[in-house]
Amino acid sequence: MSTTMTMTPEPAPADGAGDQPILKVRDLRVTFTRAGRRIRAAKGVSFNVRPGKMLAIIGESGSGKSVTVRALMGLLPPSAKVTGSADLEGRELVGLSDKKMRMVRGQEISMVFQDPARSLNPTMSVGAQIVESVRTHRPLGRRQAAERAIELLKLVRLPAPEKRFHQYPHQLSGGMRQRVMIAIALASDPKVLIADEATTALDVTTQAQIMELLVDLRERLGTAVIMISHDLGLAASYADEVLVMYAGQVVEQAQTSELFSNVRMPYTRALLEAIPQVSRPSHSALTVIGGHPPDPTQRIEGCPFRPRCVRATETCETAPALEEHEPGHWYACWNPVTGALAPASAPAAEEPREETQP
Ligand code: ADP
Ligand code: MG
Repeated sequence: MSTTMTMTPEPAPADGAGDQPILKVRDLRVTFTRAGRRIRAAKGVSFNVRPGKMLAIIGESGSGKSVTVRALMGLLPPSAKVTGSADLEGRELVGLSDKKMRMVRGQEISMVFQDPARSLNPTMSVGAQIVESVRTHRPLGRRQAAERAIELLKLVRLPAPEKRFHQYPHQLSGGMRQRVMIAIALASDPKVLIADEATTALDVTTQAQIMELLVDLRERLGTAVIMISHDLGLAASYADEVLVMYAGQVVEQAQTSELFSNVRMPYTRALLEAIPQVSRPSHSALTVIGGHPPDPTQRIEGCPFRPRCVRATETCETAPALEEHEPGHWYACWNPVTGALAPASAPAAEEPREETQP
């Protein structure tokens, strides 16, 4: 393992789990320049990703979740300036050439996006699309690649894989299409699988099934999963570890059980309280916290959540650092919430049901 950690300005968060991280992100910063204005989208993000574990990155829309993982994948437009470090098993990803990044991307880190309908080619059978992906990673003949594709469809538990292989995306339900996207992402046996709002466009039942699949894959394959969502309920139900982002920064982080039983950061608390008790349409955005996130083009004095925080005091005019205040529990707050949240607010997992035919 290389020690890019020596350039770390702050200690590496949450190492309580024991396993060695496969991916170490330190002080990642992403800045865009648009129309002469600087947009600070990620402002010193650090975290570890462990094999066989699911890390959830949560936060309101615009908090920098996608930008952070896209920086790891080299998927940002040229207007983005990325600094800091992302160490994947000793290899530094920040600053890799496009050519080298393309090798890592898809091979060692794969990503599944929100909209499988748009990510798949409507004019090609799903089998042909998986075969194509298999063959970019392995020197296999057509027949062997097709066998591997069927294997992948079984791996993602798509019903009737041999039949589905010959079908076109429009003949599959949204959940099935997302399974196909996951199969494509797994074609290279990636070490890290990133799912960016991968279940957001799906109905609640299908959402639960896809989450179950991701949990299952991380166990069966030992893949590290980074799951991005604006939905705390999903993180609480499925992730091993949770990272809460606000205004381009990590504001709270802990193992899932610790985080949800002892929420400290008022922002996380507000997000939790914004979850309705009954199942809701999966598309519903979290807009329930009063006020707005700060303008990313403005420099912020003090805690970025201060203007919206019910616990804010004068002390908050100085920005709190992300610190490990309790073992394995990191947060950036001067006036943390104390006491457990009422159990009624803890979101429950949805019972997955069999996916119906389209
Ligand atoms: P989210 O947490 O919803 O995934 P993003 O990571 O997409 O948020 O965005 C974080 C911030 O970066 C937002 O303020 C967004 O407007 C800005 N941003 C994202 N992509 C670009 C881009 N290509 N150019 C300029 N600003 C961007
Ligand atoms: Mg996003």
